[in-house]
Amino acid sequence: MKEEATGLERALAADGLLKAVKMAPALVAEYEQYVEPQKRRILFAAVLLGIFNYTAFALLDWWVLSDIIGLVLLVRLGVCLPIGCLGLYLVSRPNIPLVWQQLMSCVLCWAGIAILSGLVLLSDKPEAQGYLLGNYALIFFALTLMALPFRMALGLTVATFALLAATVLLGPGITPAFKMPYLATGLVLLIPAVYANWSTENERRRHFLLVTRERIRQRQLSEQRDILDRLAAIDPLTGLSNRRGLDIALAKDIENAGDQAWVVLAMLDIDSFKPYNDNYGHPAGDEALKLVAKALDYALDGHTRLARIGGEEFVAVQVARELPDIAPFAEQFRAAVERLALPHGYSVTTDVVTVSVGASAGVLDEDGSLKSLFTVADRALYEAKTQGRNRVVVFEPLAECARHEAAERA
Ligand code: GH3
Ligand code: MG
Ligand code: MG
Repeated sequence: MKEEATGLERALAADGLLKAVKMAPALVAEYEQYVEPQKRRILFAAVLLGIFNYTAFALLDWWVLSDIIGLVLLVRLGVCLPIGCLGLYLVSRPNIPLVWQQLMSCVLCWAGIAILSGLVLLSDKPEAQGYLLGNYALIFFALTLMALPFRMALGLTVATFALLAATVLLGPGITPAFKMPYLATGLVLLIPAVYANWSTENERRRHFLLVTRERIRQRQLSEQRDILDRLAAIDPLTGLSNRRGLDIALAKDIENAGDQAWVVLAMLDIDSFKPYNDNYGHPAGDEALKLVAKALDYALDGHTRLARIGGEEFVAVQVARELPDIAPFAEQFRAAVERLALPHGYSVTTDVVTVSVGASAGVLDEDGSLKSLFTVADRALYEAKTQGRNRVVVFEPLAECARHEAAERA
C-alpha cells in the first residue's frame, strides 16, 4: 500500500502546461474502468448534440445552398440524420467496446464534414464557402466534447484538416483569397482544440489519482483506527483485556444472549501484593502479575471473558442463558493461581501467591449496565479479604447484597 501511495504521489507531481500525468500499468487499467461509464455518457451526449446541430443547419441551407436545396435536404435529412441516429443507437449500447464507439463517432464526424464540403463544392453560391468555416466548428466540437483518446483525436484532426485543405486548394470555385486565411484559421483553431482534448484527459487522470489517494488515505486511517482500538482495549503488561476491552466484549456477548441473560462475575485481587512488591521489587511484582494472568487465562473456558481491571485486580465474567453455579466458576480461578505455586514469603495467608475472589450473578441493570453486579461482587471480595484471604465468597444474586448492606448499616 505504501508503494501504491508513492506511485500516486509521483504521478500527481507531474504538473504544468505540458506535463502528462503518467500512471503505472496497474493503475491505468483501474483508471480505464473508472472513467469508462463517464466517457460513454459524454460520448452519447456529444453525438446527440452533434446530430441536432447538424440537422438544425438545414434551416440555414435555404439561404446558403438555395441553388441545390433539394439535394441538400435529401442528404441532410434523408441520409445523414438516419445514419446519425443509427450511430447514436450504437453509441448507447453498453456491450460495444467504448473504443469502437469512439472510432465510429470520429468516422461519422469526418463523413459529415466531407459531405458538407462536397455540397459546398456543388453549389454555385458564393455564400456557400462560409460553410467550410462551419466544418471547423464540427471538428472543434468533436475534439473538445467527445472525450476521445488523444491519438484518435490527433488522427481525426489530421484527416479532417487534410480533407479541408484538399477541398479549398483543389476544389473548383473557391475564391483564391479565401484559401490561405482559411487554412491559417484552421491551424489556429485546431491546435488549441487538440490541446484541450489532451489537457482534459490529463485532468481526468489527475482527478482519478486524487480520488484514489483519498480512498487509500481513508483505508489507512480506518486500519490505524482499528489498531488503536485494539491497543486501547488491551492491558500492555499482561496482554489481557483491560476494562474497556471487557466492556466491548461483554456488550457483544449480551447482544448475542439477549437482555434477560444471566451474568456471572468473579472479582479477583492478589493477596498481600504490596508486601510482595516491597520485598521482591517492582519488576518481580510485574513478572508475578504476568504469571497470574497466564494462569487465569489458562483456566478459562471459551465462554468466559477475563480482564485486568486495576493494579492487581482481575475480573472474569460469563454471560449465560441459565443461571450458572457461581461457586465452582469462581473457585477454578482461585485454585489456578494457588496451583501456580509462586513463592510469596510475606503473604498473610500462605507461602505462595494467592487471590481472594468475590463472586455473584445477576441480570443487567435497567440502564443495561452491570453496575449493580460489580458492586455486589466487590462486596463479596471485601468479605473474602475480611474472612482471611485465599478464598471464594459468593453473594447470591442481589438478595444477599441487600442483607449485607443491612448488616453493615446495623
Ligand atoms: P490485599 O491482600 O488486601 O489485597 O493486600 P494488597 O497488598 O494486595 O493490597 P494493596 O491494595 O494495599 O496493594 C496493592 C499493590 O499492588 C500496590 C502496588 O504496589 C501493587 N501494584 C499495583 N499495580 C501494580 C503493577 O502494575 N505492577 C506491580 N509490580 N505492582 C503493582
Ligand atoms: Mg487491590
Ligand atoms: Mg491485593
